[in-house]
Amino acid sequence: MPVSPTDDELKDVLKVLRSENPILGVTKLQTRLLAEHPDWSVSEKRVKKLLAAENLLAAPPPPKPGKASAGKGLVAIEDIKEGEDVWKEDPFIIAPECRGERIHPLLCPATNPASIPLLAFARRLEWMACHAAAQCIALVLIAHEQGRQSDLDESMRFLGALAQMGMEERWKAVDHSGLEPDRKTWKTAHTLTVQAFHAPPDSQNKKRLLKILRKPIPDDLAKNLFDFDSYLQALDRMSLNLEAHGGIYMLHSHLNHCCTPNLSVRHFDIKTAIARITIRAKTDIKPGEELLITYVNPELPFRSRRRELTAWAFGPCACARCVREEQEEGERGEENNFPVIEEELKHGLGLL
Ligand SMILES: [Zn+2]
Repeated sequence: MPVSPTDDELKDVLKVLRSENPILGVTKLQTRLLAEHPDWSVSEKRVKKLLAAENLLAAPPPPKPGKASAGKGLVAIEDIKEGEDVWKEDPFIIAPECRGERIHPLLCPATNPASIPLLAFARRLEWMACHAAAQCIALVLIAHEQGRQSDLDESMRFLGALAQMGMEERWKAVDHSGLEPDRKTWKTAHTLTVQAFHAPPDSQNKKRLLKILRKPIPDDLAKNLFDFDSYLQALDRMSLNLEAHGGIYMLHSHLNHCCTPNLSVRHFDIKTAIARITIRAKTDIKPGEELLITYVNPELPFRSRRRELTAWAFGPCACARCVREEQEEGERGEENNFPVIEEELKHGLGLL
């Protein structure tokens, strides 16, 4: 006859089991328990209740830094209170350029007509990364022209340090649905970029460009900006680091992802500085804790978040919430996956 162990007996065994299996769900933990004690009769409900009482219910591993994270990571060094504005930041570049703001001479159709085909192309495809790469190249070229060597060095250092995954890898990882530009389009973007800023095919346009850029471009800088491989790297970095509204931000670009982020990115200064972002604490944050934002809509169900996150590089998210939700999904079993799909479909159709 199966016997019912006392609460204390059960607790002791569960503690050991939990320490050996830190991320196992309740059902699987109960299965292990009964395998070790075949003479016991213990319901799943009782296991769950005792685990909850002992605070052993959810014991997911801490998020692994570098997993599903595009930024280098920023960590709090002092106490941050919920609701506090941690910092405000203007973009390094914003694409497409905002109306009303001064247009860069290299991107202005009047001063540099060679840029017209490139900008029209980026606009037609609504390809923000292509536009952002053009902005960065223009910024670096003008810094060189004006002899601002330290600005140029700083820009190159910043751009070089941005996270990247490789356009080919990105191409393989994302769900295209015909929206993501393909290799042929990358090639066209590269050709138009070189023609816009380096070698306009039309001699009239070439003269106009030389009026803005009088100084010769050193070979290593030209290589860094205009080689096809370097250009692909730039596109890749832009794709990966653009904030939702099209800006690249020096600090923001270093923030890693979590599905329960402790920061939110807000646009409070839309009237005075359209692209300025405010980074606000969603919770109290202790010194040593990593500062985290979400790269995807956090209201999406687990599977949809995972799918969207693949486009942000470095594999599946291992945040506590994803670990828990994957576990729960596993426990629901194959036949119970249907509601998840249904939920995702509703999200896709905008019904939720
Ligand atoms: Zn996650």
